[in-house]
Amino acid sequence: MPELPEVEVIKRGLQKHLPGRKVIGSYAGNRKLRLPIPRKDLQCFIQGAEIQAVDRRAKFLLISMDNGAVLLLHLGMTGRLGIFPADAPRAKHDHLRLQLDNQMQLRFNDARRFGFIQVLPPGKNPNRTILAGIGPEPLGKEFTPEYLRCCAAGKNRPLKNFLMDSRVVAGIGNIYACEILFHAGLNPQKKISRVSKKDWEKIVASCRHILQKAIQCGGTTISDFVSASGKTGYFQLELQTYGRQGQPCSCCATPIAKKTMAGRATFFCPECQK
Ligand SMILES: [Zn+2]
Repeated sequence: MPELPEVEVIKRGLQKHLPGRKVIGSYAGNRKLRLPIPRKDLQCFIQGAEIQAVDRRAKFLLISMDNGAVLLLHLGMTGRLGIFPADAPRAKHDHLRLQLDNQMQLRFNDARRFGFIQVLPPGKNPNRTILAGIGPEPLGKEFTPEYLRCCAAGKNRPLKNFLMDSRVVAGIGNIYACEILFHAGLNPQKKISRVSKKDWEKIVASCRHILQKAIQCGGTTISDFVSASGKTGYFQLELQTYGRQGQPCSCCATPIAKKTMAGRATFFCPECQK
């Protein structure tokens, strides 16, 4: 499943190719994604307009047009985006193709169809849509130890569940939550009421460090976004805890433990993360 760093790398790839291009056609398949593909809105608001910017919010991609409309994309579990020559053979599960004015096509492929495509008409504020209520970006200025301390005040949830709550912070999934807490040396089950000021500082620093490292790793894995095969090269950090139960901790050699928390597999070093 694409996580925040993957979506960020895809955004940076699209930024090199899309702004300044005009969408001159749109072809949508018949299958429904998580929501039906808004063919009419694509024709009304995206077709004929020029792409101005590509942004990311949490795990959503926002492609802004010069007429004020925004194409909102979510990759779900298996979604992929690629830029192809218009005459490149279509792949199974290509659900949307946008014809650009340079003989290239932006294609959205999604085998499991948990992703979705939405068109926000001009004048619709993206923050008042599905993005409403999402917490600050973990790499943004608003994400500070003080902010987290405020958010946690009066609550008593386990630390990992708190970090995975998108109202608290945007886009931290299960894998990265485990890796961040290992890096910070904090137990995922620790109650947030018992997390100290210093711990919150470590958490913010570890979030930034782990996510930035993953983005960098993606940037080097994916040399060119335009790919005839459509593979944007899913990448992964060398994981220290996730999926490594029973294997020695890279720091102290204690076997990595696995526990289920809020229905999600959770990995940690019982020694380094007391
Ligand atoms: Zn350890």
